[in-house]
Amino acid sequence: MITDDRIRAMHAEMTEWRRDLHAHPELGFEEHRTSDFVARKLEEFGLEVHRGLAGTGVVGVLQAGRGGNQAIGLRADMDALPIEEANQVAYRSTVPGKMHACGHDGHTTMLLGAAKYLAETRNFSGTAYFIFQPAEETKGGGREMVRDGLFERFPMSAVYGMHNWPGVPVGTVAVHDGPVMASMDTFEIQVRGLGSHAAMPHMGRDPIVAAANLVSTIQTVASRLVPATDAVVVSITQFHAGDAWNVIPETALIRGTVRTLSAAIRDQVEPALRRMCEGLATAYGIAMDFSYHPGYPVTVNTAEETAFAREVAATVVGRENVRGDLAPSMGAEDFAFMLQERPGCYIWLGNGPADGGRVLHSPNYDFNDEILPIGVAYWAALVERALPAG
Ligand SMILES: [Zn+2]
Ligand SMILES: [Zn+2]
Repeated sequence: MITDDRIRAMHAEMTEWRRDLHAHPELGFEEHRTSDFVARKLEEFGLEVHRGLAGTGVVGVLQAGRGGNQAIGLRADMDALPIEEANQVAYRSTVPGKMHACGHDGHTTMLLGAAKYLAETRNFSGTAYFIFQPAEETKGGGREMVRDGLFERFPMSAVYGMHNWPGVPVGTVAVHDGPVMASMDTFEIQVRGLGSHAAMPHMGRDPIVAAANLVSTIQTVASRLVPATDAVVVSITQFHAGDAWNVIPETALIRGTVRTLSAAIRDQVEPALRRMCEGLATAYGIAMDFSYHPGYPVTVNTAEETAFAREVAATVVGRENVRGDLAPSMGAEDFAFMLQERPGCYIWLGNGPADGGRVLHSPNYDFNDEILPIGVAYWAALVERALPAG
C-alpha cells in the first residue's frame, strides 16, 4: 500500500527498533533506556535533541527550507504497563511483570521513522517537533511536559497524536470530529459509622447499609442526572468493609471512576456525588468523607486540524479507508493535556484483528509491525502538507 520506496526500505530496520523496545519495556517516568534509545537515534538522523522534559521526555527539532515561524508538533508515548506478557515471541518482554501492551513501542518507532525520513528528504519548509513523552498510562506524563514548558520552549501552531487501534483493519484510519477519548477521574468515599455487635445493630450506626445505599444512589448519576444523549460512566470499583461474621464494622471504603465525553457533563458529576454523600450521611446519621481526584480531561479534536488530518490520511490510505463513523472510546488519553493548549487531532491507526486477546492492555496484545510504514507515511505527509516547501 505504501508506495514510497524510502519508507518501504525502512520497514525492516523499524521492525528491529520496535522489537528491541518491546523486549525492554519501562513503566511511566522510568523510560531511561527508551529515552536514551530515542535521543541517540534522533542525533544520528541529525536532529537537535532536547532532553529532561518531564524527566525522561525527549523533543527532537528538525528545520527545513526557509525554517522560520511555521511549526507543528507530532507526539508519541514511550511507557509500558505492569503486565506479565503471555506472548511466546522471540522479542518477548525480558522484564518480569512489565510489557508493552498498549503499543507505545510501535508509536515510538513510527515517530522515529518519520524523523529519519523527514531528515533525509527535507521536503518541507518550517519546523517539525518530534515529542516523545513519558508516562501516558495514568501518570500524566503529557501534563508534566506541558508544565515543563513544552509549548513555550517549542512554539507550534498545532499538535498531532495517534494510537494504534485493534479491531480496525490494517490500512484503515479512524478520525473523530470533537471528542475521541473520555475524561477519567477517580473518587473515594470513607463512610464512618459506629461499630457494634452484629446481634445488636441498634447500638451502632451501620456503615455497610449506608454505603450499599450510596452505591445504588450513585447509579442515578447516569440514569437520572445526565441526558440520555450524553455519555457518562460512573463505576464503583472497590468496596471494602468488615473482617468478622458477628461484628458491624466502624467504616466502609468506596472507590470508583468517572468517564465522560464532555467538559460540561464532567463538571456536573463531582457536585452530584458530593450531594449524595451529604444527603445520605444525614439520613443515616454517619459521616461520608468524599474526595474527588481529577485525572485526564476529555481528548477533543479541533475542527480545522481534524479536517486537515482527514485529508492527509486520505492521501496515505485512500479516502475510502478513512472512517469517521466510529464511536469515541470511554478510555482516557493524556494527549488531552496537549490539546488543551494547542489545536490538533488524535487519530486511530488500524492495528488489525482484535481476536485472541489482541486488545489494548491484554497480556496477549502485540503491536502489528505491518502498520509501521503507514504511521510513518501519515506523519511525513502531515509535516509536508502543513509546512509546504516553497
Ligand atoms: Zn494504554
Ligand atoms: Zn496507549
